[in-house]
Amino acid sequence: MSVETFSFKSEAKELLNLMIHSLYSTKDIFLRELISNASDALDKRRFEALTDASLSAKEPLAVRVKASEEGEERTLTISDNGVGMSRDELINNLGTIAHSGTKELLTKMQEQKEKGEGALDTLIGQFGVGFYSSFIAAERVEVVSRRVGSDEAWCWISTGEGEYSLEEATKEEAGTSITLFLREENSEDGLEDFTQEWVLRQTIKRYSDFVQYPVELWSKKSEPYVPSDDEDEEAAKSDDEKQPTVTWEWDQVNSMKAIWARDPADVTDEEYTDFYKHISKDWKEPADRLRFTTEGRLNLTALLFIPSDRPHDLFYREQSYGLQLYANRVLIKESAEELLPTWLRFMKGVVESGDLSLNVSREMLQQDRHVKSIRKQVINKTVKHLKDMLENNREDYESVWNNFGEVLKESVVDYEFGDKVKPVLLFKSSTEEALTTLDAYIERMQEGQEAIYYITGESVEAIKRSPHLEAFNDKGIEVLFLDQPIDEYLVENLGRYDDKELRSVTRGDVDLSSEEEREEKEKELKETAEASKELLEALKGDLTEHVKEVRLSQRLTSSPACLVQEEGSMSPQMQRIMEQMGQAAPTPKRILELNPKHPLFERLQDTFKGDAESPRVKHFAQLIYGQALIAEGSPVSDPAAFTEALTQVMVEG
Ligand code: ADP
Ligand code: MG
Repeated sequence: MSVETFSFKSEAKELLNLMIHSLYSTKDIFLRELISNASDALDKRRFEALTDASLSAKEPLAVRVKASEEGEERTLTISDNGVGMSRDELINNLGTIAHSGTKELLTKMQEQKEKGEGALDTLIGQFGVGFYSSFIAAERVEVVSRRVGSDEAWCWISTGEGEYSLEEATKEEAGTSITLFLREENSEDGLEDFTQEWVLRQTIKRYSDFVQYPVELWSKKSEPYVPSDDEDEEAAKSDDEKQPTVTWEWDQVNSMKAIWARDPADVTDEEYTDFYKHISKDWKEPADRLRFTTEGRLNLTALLFIPSDRPHDLFYREQSYGLQLYANRVLIKESAEELLPTWLRFMKGVVESGDLSLNVSREMLQQDRHVKSIRKQVINKTVKHLKDMLENNREDYESVWNNFGEVLKESVVDYEFGDKVKPVLLFKSSTEEALTTLDAYIERMQEGQEAIYYITGESVEAIKRSPHLEAFNDKGIEVLFLDQPIDEYLVENLGRYDDKELRSVTRGDVDLSSEEEREEKEKELKETAEASKELLEALKGDLTEHVKEVRLSQRLTSSPACLVQEEGSMSPQMQRIMEQMGQAAPTPKRILELNPKHPLFERLQDTFKGDAESPRVKHFAQLIYGQALIAEGSPVSDPAAFTEALTQVMVEG
C-alpha cells in the first residue's frame, strides 16, 4: 500500500512550529490533552453503541498508557478503544485546527510576534493546545486508528514539520493508538523522562484523576526472591536465578471518583471526607460542606468545604488559595483563585462546568465570562450557607467563625458582595455572654438610641477597664467589643448597618441623656466649667505636649479622667497597627476629659484655689494624664515625669 503525503493547513503549521520550538514550563500537559481526547473518543463510542449494539467494545472502555522499556527506542503510547478515526477524519481532525481556543492562541501569537520569542513562550503555556501538544515531547508522532464499524485502519505519521503521511495499516480492535517517539529528556527545561513510571503516574494523577474511564499504566511488579528451604538446591542456583521475579501488568492510576458529579444520595459522609482530605491535604475532617448545581444559563456543579482548622498560612501574603476548576472531568486549574474572593480564601473544593472549554486560556480565566459567573455563584451560595448555619446550627457556625471570622471581616471592602456578609458577622458585647450579630444588637437597642456603639482595644479585659464604658454601663446601653487587629479596619469601612450609624464610644462627644436631662446637665456642666476655667487652662498648659484640650466630661461616672479622640481621627489601636506595619503615622493629640463629680477633681480645685502656682497642680496634671493612659491600656508616655510626680505626692501625704 502506498504512502501519501499531505501538508498541514497553514494555521496548524504555525502552531506546530511553536510547539516544537517553544520553551515553556508545563510540558507535561501533553499527556492531559491526549488522555482527554481518548476519553472523548470513549464517550463517543459509548454513545454510538447505544443505538447500534454491534459497535460496543469487547473489552471494557479504557485508556492505556505504555512506555518503552530500558534499552529500547524511547516511546510512549496512549491508546484507547474509542470511536477511532477514518482516513478522512484523520485528515480533517489532525491536519487542521478547528477549535476556537487554538485559533485565539494563534491570533494572540500574531500580535505578540513583534515582541520576540520570549513573549510567545509565555503565551503558549497559557492555552490548552490539544493534539499538537504531543510534539512538545515527541520528535515524531504515529497515530494508528480504526474507526468503529470499519475494518480499515490507517496510520498517520508526522514530525510536526509542515507535512504528515498516511498509509494503510492493520489494527485488531477499533480505537486509536498514539505513539510518541520521545525527544531527549531535559529536566532543566521541564521535559522529564516520560518513560519513567513515576513521572507518568504523577502526571496522570495530577491532571486526569477524575477522568471517567480507567487510565491504565503498563507497570512493573516486582516480587522479592524467595529462597528455597533446600540448602543444596539453593547453592546450585546461579545469581541470576536469585533475582526478584518481575511481571508486567496494567495498573489503573486514576481514581475516577468525581464525587461532586455523583448523586449526593449515593455518596457517604466518609467518601466526602476522604475526598476533602485528598484535595486539601488536610488530615482533619472538614467543618462543613456544601454542594450545589446550577443549570440553564450556566451549568455547574460545585462541592465546597469549610476546613475545621486554620491553615498555618492563612495570613501569609503569598498564600495560594482557590478551588479546583474542572471542565468535563479534566482539570483546568489546580488552584483557581479566580473563583474565590480573598475573604473566602479558606474554602476548599471543586467546581466543574461543562460550559468551559478545555482550551480556555489559563492566564485569562479571570476575564472569562463563565468564570465570572461561576465566582458569583460560589460567593452567593457560600454566604447563604453561612447564614443558614448561623440560623440553624449556631454552635458549628461559631466554630467556623472562631477560625475564619477575621478573614470574613475583610469582606467589608468588597463593594460588590460585602453587604451580604454583614449579617453573618459576630461580635462580643458588653451586655451579652454569647457573640451577637448586628441584627440582634439592633433588636436590643434602647428607645431613642440611634447608633450602634462599639469600642476597640487590645483585649476584652483591657476594653472592660476602659472608663469610656462607664456611662454606657450605667444606662445599660450595649457596646460591641472589638478586640482583633482587623476590627479597626472593619469599623472604618463598615459605615452604617441597617441605616444605623456605627459610633465609637471613645470618639467625640457622647451624650446618652434625654433632651431634658441633657439641657439640665449641660447647664450644670457649663457652670462648673466656667468656675474651673482657670484650672482647666492651667492643666492644659502643663500637658500641652500631650493633649489638645482639657475639658469636663459627661461620660464618666466613677473614673477621674479619660482621653478622647476628636471626631474622625485615628484611634490609638489603628495607630499601633500602622506602626507595626512600618507606616508611622503622626500621633494626633487627644482631649483629656475630667470627671467633675470625682473627689479628685474637687481636691484639685481646692489646691488650685489655695495656690494657683503650687507645684502640686503640676504633679496632679502628670498623674491624671498617666492614669488615663494606663486605664485604656496604653503605655505611660513619660514614665520619668509620672513617677517623679507620684513620689512627690506620696511624700507630701
Ligand atoms: P479538541 O479535543 O479540542 O477537539 P484536539 O487537537 O485535542 O482538539 O483534537 C482534535 C480532534 O482530533 C478531536 O476533536 C477528535 O475529533 C480527534 N481526535 C484526537 N484524538 C482522538 C482519539 N484518541 N480518538 C478519536 N479521535 C481523536
Ligand atoms: Mg482535545
